[in-house]
Amino acid sequence: MRYSRSLIPTLKEDPGEAQVVSHRFMLRSGMIRQLASGVYTWLPIGLRVLRKVENVVRREMNAAGAQEVLMPAVQPAELWQESGRWAKYGPELLRLKDRNDRAFCFGPTHEEVITDLARRELRSYRQLPANFYQIQTKFRDEIRPRFGVMRGREFLMKDAYSFDLDEAGLEQTYQAMFAAYRQIFLNCGLKFRAVEADTGAIGGAYSHEFHVLAESGEDVIAFCDHCQYAANLEKATSGPLPPLAEVPVDPMAKVSTPGRKSIAEVSEFLGVDPRRTVKAMVVESDLGAFLLLLRGDHEFNEIKSRNALGAQWLKLAEPPRAAELAGTSTGYLGPVGATLPMVADLALEGLDGFVCGANEVDFHRTGVRWERDLPRPRFADLRAVAVGDPCPRCAEGRLEQARGIEVGHVFKLGYKYSQSMGVAVQGPEGGEVTPIMGCYGIGVSRIVAAAIEQNHDANGIVWPMALAPFQVQILLMNPTDAPSAAAAETLYAELLEAGVEVLLDDRDERPGVKFKDADLLGIPLRVLVGGRSFKEGMLEVQDRRGGAAERMTPQEAAQGLMNKVRDRLRQETGAHGSTTL
Ligand code: ATP
Ligand code: MG
Repeated sequence: MRYSRSLIPTLKEDPGEAQVVSHRFMLRSGMIRQLASGVYTWLPIGLRVLRKVENVVRREMNAAGAQEVLMPAVQPAELWQESGRWAKYGPELLRLKDRNDRAFCFGPTHEEVITDLARRELRSYRQLPANFYQIQTKFRDEIRPRFGVMRGREFLMKDAYSFDLDEAGLEQTYQAMFAAYRQIFLNCGLKFRAVEADTGAIGGAYSHEFHVLAESGEDVIAFCDHCQYAANLEKATSGPLPPLAEVPVDPMAKVSTPGRKSIAEVSEFLGVDPRRTVKAMVVESDLGAFLLLLRGDHEFNEIKSRNALGAQWLKLAEPPRAAELAGTSTGYLGPVGATLPMVADLALEGLDGFVCGANEVDFHRTGVRWERDLPRPRFADLRAVAVGDPCPRCAEGRLEQARGIEVGHVFKLGYKYSQSMGVAVQGPEGGEVTPIMGCYGIGVSRIVAAAIEQNHDANGIVWPMALAPFQVQILLMNPTDAPSAAAAETLYAELLEAGVEVLLDDRDERPGVKFKDADLLGIPLRVLVGGRSFKEGMLEVQDRRGGAAERMTPQEAAQGLMNKVRDRLRQETGAHGSTTL
């Protein structure tokens, strides 16, 4: 592609709206432009990267035996009513009406559509296993679209849906998808990690997420420093915590703690270890309100608590509401004499003689003991694991944490949709069998942003070869200099002929401008044509990652660059990645 004939509207200044590196560089390098909140146009450079991701995904999905289809973006409400999700999905679902007042939605996901296809088209167990995928535009009316295409409202997803005869079959398909995902992220040249995940609103029994590791990630993942255990913080558990040293327990007392509300303030004021304090919080859920108890130094986790209670939804009650529900004053909530049903975190099971709020402004209780001072509550896993907690899987390990960007998700759906929507095929013994399903998503457009989060420097993007919009950029330093212009044209033609993806910067711009734009675009290999080297009969090859430039004659440049592209692809693929299953 010729730069002079392309729409690559680079920006010199950082756009104010961009909070993360990838959003900033995608705007500055002219990859995307925003049309509406969370809705973007992909410009030529951006689209080339998006297509690369698509192709990596497509190749591995095909290799794993999945069949590509393309389902409609607009879906009739009736299907969603059948599965029960029309009522459940909430405001993320963009609902539409046609001219006849029929209700539709713009698909945020396609379980209903694929299940409808399966019940019409699959007849016999001989057609199983079957796995269908598409790469298609989704719309989710996210409450907080942000970080550019990382959390857009309209975005490109690869979604796949599998149908198997039985659980053993699903397990095999799941393993095959897991392996394909691993290969996809390796082929993209990304550092990633597979983690155990919560099954969320789609429902189902078992799932893993794939995370690209990056500081800007919205998710936190916990992993063992010794074994392969890794899980989203929404799911991670710890091994049993070591018991605290035994101390003599006095009778329960009510003590004045004027103005001390936080655990830090109270434990300092009373001179007690925060691990011997208990904090209480009120949550509301579809099952009603609860008083949840956690150790003072521990963090509450909403998803784990929701699952532990078996609730559909759950949220922390804010102070005035919490007080109203608990029938007490805020900031000094405690379990002694509480009227709400109580659930305590597992870490409190062995805790004796603890400090907690007294349900009275400016007062706490000390020396509290289960059974003696209050009934033993139900214990459940409510908290987010902390750094340094024992690994739940191995004896030696400690948990560490890192931030991640969720780029893929594999799910065992079970019979949820195939049963509710009545898929039945003829079984091996003659009778009808309901197939068991899995679903497998990849955030294709999100991967573009995630790759930039992992691959950039102060001046711009540093693309891995596999995702780069072009593999080579030719910088013609002075287009009015006929000999160097001719050499650049020859090299451009040779590289195109050899199938190398090449951008020729033939613009009538100063070299400084060209270098700046090249840094921003992040094309892995750069050839300078012009200047002193050219007078000496040489071209200069630079690596966007840095390091010394290499000189090549114009005759050897095309072959030399081809070799470099190939070596780089080989080197990047499979250099990273740690996974568990
Ligand atoms: P998240 O927790 O980030 O909202 P999700 O659990 O809703 O993700 P899935 O329904 O599993 O996501 O969708 C499959 C994949 O689509 C995700 O792994 C993610 O990579 C991508 N994805 C989901 N929502 C968005 C979005 N708003 N913008 C871009 N990509 C997204
Ligand atoms: Mg979501």
